[in-house]
Amino acid sequence: MAEHISRRGFLKGIAAGALVVGFDPIRRSWITAADAAEQGAAVDRANFPQCDGVIYFDEASLQEAADDFGHIIHRRPVAVLKPASVNDIVTMVRFANRFDIKVAGRGQAHSSYGQSQVEAGVVIDTSTLNTIHAITPTYADVDCGVKWRTLLEAALAEGLTPPVLTDYIELSIGGTLSCGGIGGASHQHGLLIDNALELLVVTGRGDLQWCSMDRQRKLFESVLAGLGQFGIIVRARVRLVPAESNARVFLLYYDDVNVFNADQITLINDERFHYVEGQVVAKDEGGWRFMLEAAYFYTPPAMPNNAALLAGLSYNPGSEQITDQTYFEFANRLEATIDFLKAIGVWGFPHPWFDVFMPSTTVGTYVDSVLANLTLDDTGQGPMLLYPVKRDRLTRPFFRVPDTDVVFLFDILRTAPPIPEVVNAMVAANRQLFEQARSNGGTRYPISAIPFDQSDWQLQFGEMWDEFVKAKKRYDPHNILTPGQNIF
Ligand SMILES: Cc1cc2nc3c(=O)[nH]c(=O)nc-3n(C[C@H](O)[C@H](O)[C@H](O)COP(=O)(O)OP(=O)(O)OC[C@H]3O[C@@H](n4cnc5c(N)ncnc54)[C@H](O)[C@@H]3O)c2cc1C
Repeated sequence: MAEHISRRGFLKGIAAGALVVGFDPIRRSWITAADAAEQGAAVDRANFPQCDGVIYFDEASLQEAADDFGHIIHRRPVAVLKPASVNDIVTMVRFANRFDIKVAGRGQAHSSYGQSQVEAGVVIDTSTLNTIHAITPTYADVDCGVKWRTLLEAALAEGLTPPVLTDYIELSIGGTLSCGGIGGASHQHGLLIDNALELLVVTGRGDLQWCSMDRQRKLFESVLAGLGQFGIIVRARVRLVPAESNARVFLLYYDDVNVFNADQITLINDERFHYVEGQVVAKDEGGWRFMLEAAYFYTPPAMPNNAALLAGLSYNPGSEQITDQTYFEFANRLEATIDFLKAIGVWGFPHPWFDVFMPSTTVGTYVDSVLANLTLDDTGQGPMLLYPVKRDRLTRPFFRVPDTDVVFLFDILRTAPPIPEVVNAMVAANRQLFEQARSNGGTRYPISAIPFDQSDWQLQFGEMWDEFVKAKKRYDPHNILTPGQNIF
């Protein structure tokens, strides 16, 4: 059984002199009764915050929090809080300020380079804050730990859906709102962050504040895509729209990246499809080709008109594949593949993911140059995504993309065998590809495994860097929050 301490058990444990008995702010580590006796340290038991939820100190919990989907970076915290209330997060952040302890929120830990980890600090595992408080015809009120899949299922029961979903829907609302959240409907509706209406935030100072475009706008705009630097999002009001029941999905193949990209741009401009993405896929005979993935959502008896949807596109004749699915099957289309990868053990392998945004002006030559030197061994057979969004749909100042009207997401979603040399080589390759991308006007999507230091962040934020630093000073003046992003 996991060794954990509820508030009552924790205090009982302390009273019995068992387990952890204090925090040593000088060594920045928790100390046990044995340590304390050994060191003759004066232990101030009153240091401990009292929480409604559970604070875990056991090895298994610490190990779990020292890992993420990337399995590349491992930073060991000293405690993991599974909050039972918003107040627990306020309490922990205030406590952290008092003793200069780092804190990070953790949603589903699906970022790939230690972003949700914190060495010798406290991880707040928000998965226990998972209540859907309300679903109305235009929005849902949810706790930060709710997964998009859970919200989607509840919303669909009312005939509603979030207007945009990520490709994988087992991600937390708080984690994705801290990073961005892009999907095939982003060309019309922007990212998940563009569809957040109101947030309840525990700032780095430990203040609990509602914010929106009308109230505390600075805080609202800082926290969305704020990479956890300014506050922990504890609750969100997110937009909902009426859902269609079905999806007709079109896969169209291309040999030339520029022809492929041009058709994608046509589709995001005329908005004939509800969903537009694309992938780089391996050819049987070696090399790469391009697959445009588009979906039209409908509810019978209304039906899509295939000829009208495909008119004027320049895909390889006869290459089109057309299928019908329910809307939920489409939204949840990765589940079967991921279940398979879990069954064969590959899902637990390292994931040195490479994710950048490229300007429409350089994306073709950049992608061609990357692909010229890329093999399936380099990707570990992970998918490669390439699709455009319109920049005027991206409204949050800290979400950084190139400054062309259309920008392309380019991902190499690598899987590595669990061999450190191979993983390190892929991370080094990511850095090299990123530098090429940056010199062609690209920016990093921060969920990725690309080593970054403060000078990189400064370049990434460009003219917004000063605002970013100002917001940090204002909302997290003691630099408590989310060190795993390696910004401050
Ligand atoms: C299989 C897979 C598919 C994916 N598909 C997409 C996709 O289609 N589109 C896309 O945009 N992304 C995609 N992602 C990336 C994903 O959106 C990010 O990794 C996101 O951060 C994951 O959410 P999470 O709950 O796991 O966040 P975490 O990884 O737990 O956290 C991300 C960051 O936010 C911070 N954080 C977490 N919760 C909070 C909070 N409540 N308040 C403040 N800060 C917080 C963390 O400290 C960390 O710095 C995918 C990832 C995977 C593994």
